[in-house]
Amino acid sequence: MPNYKLVCFDVDGTLIDNVKFSWQVFHDCFKTDKEGREKARNDFFNGNISYLQWAEHDIGMWKEKGAKKDEFLEALNGLKLMDGALETLHELKKHGLKLAIISGSLNILLEKFIPNYNEFFDDIFLSKIFFDETGNIVNVRATEFDMEKKAEALRQIAERENLDLKECVFVGDYINDLKIIQEAGLGIAFNCHHDELKKVADIVVEKKDLREILKHIL
Ligand SMILES: [Mg+2]
Repeated sequence: MPNYKLVCFDVDGTLIDNVKFSWQVFHDCFKTDKEGREKARNDFFNGNISYLQWAEHDIGMWKEKGAKKDEFLEALNGLKLMDGALETLHELKKHGLKLAIISGSLNILLEKFIPNYNEFFDDIFLSKIFFDETGNIVNVRATEFDMEKKAEALRQIAERENLDLKECVFVGDYINDLKIIQEAGLGIAFNCHHDELKKVADIVVEKKDLREILKHIL
C-alpha cells in the first residue's frame, strides 16, 4: 500500500493546461469592465471583502453581460487537458487512493475536459455556475477555499477521513497553492513558474506530464 492516502489537485495550470486563471479567460471573453474588476481584486487583497464576495462580484459581471453557457464553453477552446491527466487519475484510483479537487476554478472547465469528473473525485472544492436550459446563469456557488483557505479544505477532508496531513498529497502550480503545498505531507509543484512555490514544495516536477507525479506517490 502507498504511504499516501489522499491526493488533491489544483485545476488551472495543473489538471488543465494553457491557463493560469480561468476567471481571466472568461473576463477576456465577455469583455468585462477592467476597472471594476481591479477594484474588486484590490478590495479582496486589502482585506475589505471576502473571497466569496470577490467571486460573486466577478460572476455578477458575467451575468450583466448576459453570458450564456455555450459562450463559456467556447471561451475554453484554447485550453486542454494536461498531458497524462486521465492516466494519472486512473492509476491513483486503481491503487485505492482518495482523490480531491481543491481549486478556485470553475465547474464548467471540468465539465468540458473531464465530463465524468464526479467518478474520479471524492471531494470537490470548486466554484460552481449553474445554467438553465436556455443557457442563462441561474445560480452560482462560489468556493471560499481558494488562496490561503485551500489549506483549510485539505484539513477538513483529512479530519473527516481520519488522515494525518502526512498522508496527504497536493499538486499545484501557482502561488495561491503556497500554503496548502506546505501543509500537505507531500507538496508537488507542477508546471510551476514561480520560485516562491518551488522553494517550499517537497518535489518540483519539471516535465509537463502529470504521470511524472506517480513515482513520487505510489
Ligand atoms: Mg493553478
